[in-house]
Amino acid sequence: MAFTVAIDGPAGAGKSVVARKTAMALGFTYIDTGAMYRTIALQALERGVSPDDSETVSCIAIESQIVLSPLDANGDQRVCVQGRDVTQEIRAPQVSQMTSRISAIPQVRSVMVELQRSISRESLRGVVLEGRDIGTVVFPNAEVKIFLTASAEERAKRRYLELQKRGVEISLEAVLSEQAERDERDSQRAASPLKPAEDSRYLLTDGLTIVQVVEQIIALCVEKGYRVEGGGLE
Ligand code: C5P
Repeated sequence: MAFTVAIDGPAGAGKSVVARKTAMALGFTYIDTGAMYRTIALQALERGVSPDDSETVSCIAIESQIVLSPLDANGDQRVCVQGRDVTQEIRAPQVSQMTSRISAIPQVRSVMVELQRSISRESLRGVVLEGRDIGTVVFPNAEVKIFLTASAEERAKRRYLELQKRGVEISLEAVLSEQAERDERDSQRAASPLKPAEDSRYLLTDGLTIVQVVEQIIALCVEKGYRVEGGGLE
């Protein structure tokens, strides 16, 4: 089994950029598990399927051909489902809300977890997965487990700036309240709720730069026996 780095945490904690940079620095495969759940939510929204209709949503999950591209030189990953590039669409705020509803469906979770494990098995060198249940459910034996978080205000501010950059019109207050709703649902659900694995390293990122966080994670990988060859952080 390849060396596994599990990065969990709430929305807006900076998991995505940190996980990508860690994967690039180590030459590991990057798996954005949130993007996988998002592709199911997008299809459910487009077909007018209610998030309460767990049977139909589960069928969508089973039939979905999800492909995550390798990271490009800029650290970007394309997300495709049924051969269609949905990289942009899956980031819309209504998709985020729908995702936190459909991801509470146990069968959807088991399909996604199986896919995450099978992609990881194909990775020779190592894998960085980011999500909510990686260290607790998907890879409880991961060599490195990180629980990445930041204060609610800091997280909302980051997400607001990110959405603004993408041209999504939304107020900071709306981001904060949607975030609180999503955090509540993600941590209260019965199936694989968001919570730190007992043996995870808790990293509060308020006031830390991305490079500082990535350096801490790489130091932890070395501590756990991974030999880093050459390279470095930019
Ligand atoms: O990480 P991201 O914001 O893209 O995740 C979107 C939603 O997907 C989360 O709010 C959560 O409900 C769900 N999710 C999950 N388990 C994961 C990753 C994401 O339930 N491993």
